[in-house]
Amino acid sequence: MKYLSNRGHADRKQFCDILLEGLAPDGGLYLPEHYPQVDDAMLTRLRKAYHEQGYAELAFQILSLYIDDIPAADLKALCAKTYTAEVFGTGEIVPLRHLENSLWLEALSNGPTLAFKDMAMQLLGNLFEYELGRRGEQLNILGATSGDTGSAAEYAMRGKAGVRVFMTSPHGRMSAFQQAQMFSLQDENIHNIAIEGVFDDCQDIVKAVSNDHAFKHKYKIGTVNSINWARLLAQVVYYFAGYIQATETNDQKVSFTVPSGNFGNVCAGHVARMMGLPIAKLVVATNENDVLDEFFRTGVYRVRGSADTHETSSPSMDISKASNFERFVFDLLGRDGARTKALFGDALSKDGRFDLSQDPCFADAAAKYGFESGKSTHADRLATIRDNYQRHGVTIDTHTADGVKVALEHHQDPNVPMIVLETALPIKFAETIVEALGHAPERPAKFAGIEDLPKRVQVMPADVDLVKAYIERHCA
Ligand SMILES: *Cc1c(COP(=O)(O)O)cnc(C)c1O
Repeated sequence: MKYLSNRGHADRKQFCDILLEGLAPDGGLYLPEHYPQVDDAMLTRLRKAYHEQGYAELAFQILSLYIDDIPAADLKALCAKTYTAEVFGTGEIVPLRHLENSLWLEALSNGPTLAFKDMAMQLLGNLFEYELGRRGEQLNILGATSGDTGSAAEYAMRGKAGVRVFMTSPHGRMSAFQQAQMFSLQDENIHNIAIEGVFDDCQDIVKAVSNDHAFKHKYKIGTVNSINWARLLAQVVYYFAGYIQATETNDQKVSFTVPSGNFGNVCAGHVARMMGLPIAKLVVATNENDVLDEFFRTGVYRVRGSADTHETSSPSMDISKASNFERFVFDLLGRDGARTKALFGDALSKDGRFDLSQDPCFADAAAKYGFESGKSTHADRLATIRDNYQRHGVTIDTHTADGVKVALEHHQDPNVPMIVLETALPIKFAETIVEALGHAPERPAKFAGIEDLPKRVQVMPADVDLVKAYIERHCA
C-alpha cells in the first residue's frame, strides 16, 4: 500500500514514512491510494477473529491491509501489546452498552486517560518506539493541548525509548482532574510546560517552533496531532468492533453517531464505510461550534475566528476549523487533488470559506457517503445527561451527551442499530455532571486522590525563545 497527498503532490510514500511525518510536502494530508475492500467472506473472518481471538487480532488484520513495511509478526506483536484488558479495562476493549430500543453506546474511554484518544494514541506510542528503534533515531514531540490530546499523548509515550514529549498547556485553565492526570507523571521523558496564556498562545508557540526549520531539524521536533494517518487507521478498527457486536449476520446494517471536533473520529468511520463495512449513516454531532453541522446542512464550509469560537462544556469539540475534514472532501470531489488544494489551500486562506452548495457532489455527502449531522447546546447536554441517568441509570460525559442528543434525532429505523461513540468518561468533566445531576460522577479507583500527587510542571511566560531554550536544555 502506498500513500498520497490529498492536494495532488506526485510523491507516493510507505506507511512508516508518513507515520513519522506530519503534513505532506504540499501541505496536504496523507491518504491510502485506495481503500482495501472487505467482502462478505472477509467480514466473516473478521467477525470470527474478534469473537475468538479478540480486539488485538481484529486490529492486526485490519492494519495489515494498510501496512506492508512492518513484518506481520512484528505488527501482530505491537497490536497484542497495545490492546490488552489491563490497559483498556475489559476483554472486549470496546464493549457495547444498551441504552434503549436499538440505541447503543460503544465504550471507547476505558484507557489510561479516560477518553477515546487512547484507542489510537496507545498504538501510536508503540509504533513510534518500534520504528525509531529500527532506524536508530530519536523524536521530540512538541504539542499544545487544552486537555485530552496532551494527556493521551503523554500516557502513550511515557517510558518509551527514543521519544520525548514537550507538552504545552494554558496555565491554570485545564480542569483540576486533567492537570493532575498530566502533571503527576514522573517519567523522565515527559515534560509539562504550563504557558501563562490561553490555548491559542500554546498553539502559536508550537507553530513558531515548527516554522524554525533549522531548530526543528536539529532537535528532531515532531507532532502527534490528529492529522496523523496512523491515528485515523487505529480508529477504523473500533467501527468494525462496534458493527460486529451489534449484528449477527453480514446483511445487517448499523449507523454511528460521532461527537465531532476535528473530524478525525468520524473520518475513520468514513474509511470503514469505504472499505465496505455495512454502515447506513454516519451522523456528525457538534456542539455550539457547528462548523461541520453547517457544512452538512448547507454545503458551506466556513472557518470561525477566535471571537466566534465558543468555550463550551464539551471543550474537546471547541474547534474553529476541522483539521481532518479535507480528507473527506477529497473523496467527495472524486479524489481531485487540484480542486482540494484550491479549496483548502487557496479559498480558505483568502476568504475563510468555500461553498459547495451548487456543486452536484454536495448531494453525495448524504446520498453516497451516508453523512448526516446535528448540533447540541449546553442546555441539551444537561437535559440529555439527566435523561440518561434517570431512565437508564447511565451517567454519560458531556461530549457523549452531544452525541446521544443528536443520535435520537437521527435514529428513525428501529431495524438499524444506532451506535453512539462514547468519547470520554464523565469524571473528566465533573463540574457539568454536578450541574446536571446534583452529584459528582463515579471516579475509577485508579484515579483516587490524583489531585494530591506531586506535580511535575514548568510554568513559563508565553515566549517562544524560552520554550526553545527549555527544549535545548532537555535534549542533551
Ligand atoms: C478529541 C475529542 C472529540 C473530538 O474528536 P475529533 O476526532 O476531533 O472529531 C470528542 N470528544 C472528546 C472527549 C475528545 O477528546
